[in-house]
Amino acid sequence: MTADTGGARLSFPSPLRLAFDGGALAANWRTMDRLSGRARAGAAVKADAYGVGVERTMPVLWQAGCRDFFVAHWSEVAAVMPHAPASSIAVLLGPMNDAEAGFARQLGVRPVINSLDQARRWIASGGGACDLMVDTGMNRLGIRVEEIGDPAIAALEVQVLMSHLACADEESDLNARQQAAFADVVQHVPHRTASLANSAGIVLGEEFHFGLTRPGLALYGGVPRGELAGRLQQVVAPEAAIVQIRSLPAGEAIGYGASFTAAADLRVAIVSLGYADGFLRSWSNLGEFTARDGAILPVIGRVSMDLTAIDITAAPHLQEGDWLRASYALPKAAQLSGLSQYELLTLAGERLRRG
Ligand SMILES: *Cc1c(COP(=O)(O)O)cnc(C)c1O
Repeated sequence: MTADTGGARLSFPSPLRLAFDGGALAANWRTMDRLSGRARAGAAVKADAYGVGVERTMPVLWQAGCRDFFVAHWSEVAAVMPHAPASSIAVLLGPMNDAEAGFARQLGVRPVINSLDQARRWIASGGGACDLMVDTGMNRLGIRVEEIGDPAIAALEVQVLMSHLACADEESDLNARQQAAFADVVQHVPHRTASLANSAGIVLGEEFHFGLTRPGLALYGGVPRGELAGRLQQVVAPEAAIVQIRSLPAGEAIGYGASFTAAADLRVAIVSLGYADGFLRSWSNLGEFTARDGAILPVIGRVSMDLTAIDITAAPHLQEGDWLRASYALPKAAQLSGLSQYELLTLAGERLRRG
């Protein structure tokens, strides 16, 4: 169906965007690669590169030297393919049916085999290079350690043999137990490269590195462990245009639920950013924005679907159409909002990511 628009133009500049610092992303990848010691660092780019956007992150990661990419879904492969050879892409959920196995074989991307069923399906479809996930204690995805001797596993052509840490961002005995279990699996399953560590796992020590590491969060500016504090740069921040400036007289309330009442006369900016963009209601009366001159401006009232109100009394120069940036340094933002750093990234709504 094509609407008759009478020749009217249908595209307009977006009043919001996810500001992106490619230099910071490249620096973060290099930092994680360096911290991976003799192992090389790959990159988790699932969920549209954690909400940052595959189109802008992939060229930067490739240029920085990254050659191993992990997506979760088969539907995520198409966006990554233009930026990296198929053989450098692995799909974490594995082949759940023959169509997915056929798709992998046709394109040459590697499925991550997560169960004996998937192993049999992959072999029946013709087999070829694949990755293998072995569960060493998280009990999420992967074959159990007792299953590594199964003939279906022996028939696989394993490129990356991997496992995933459940508690790498905490002090937990499980880390050492998973490391030991995986070190044993590596001795028994033929493979090309072994891989255990996510971002947090990389700083647990050399014995967690094996041949390949799989950072995600840290690349995008998340800080999962204290050891990484100060070593990673912020990569993204939501920015929105001021769509209206108004006066809020002392004693009047603002927004849904009238959750904020002005104690004095305030100058208020309404910006085009709301929970539909992933700027959740957890920021109501709590978030902060910054103006270009660095003035710190508090969110007042409840965040609504498309709009947020900000007290700009301290920045009298601001005008409608000016842009403000949400304070989004991930460790601090997580602490304030009660959301995890992972959630803060992947929340970025379609409108924000494409802006
Ligand atoms: C998401 C994911 C990663 C990356 O984890 P971070 O904590 O973001 O570094 C690594 N490996 C697997 C299997 C994953 O699912």
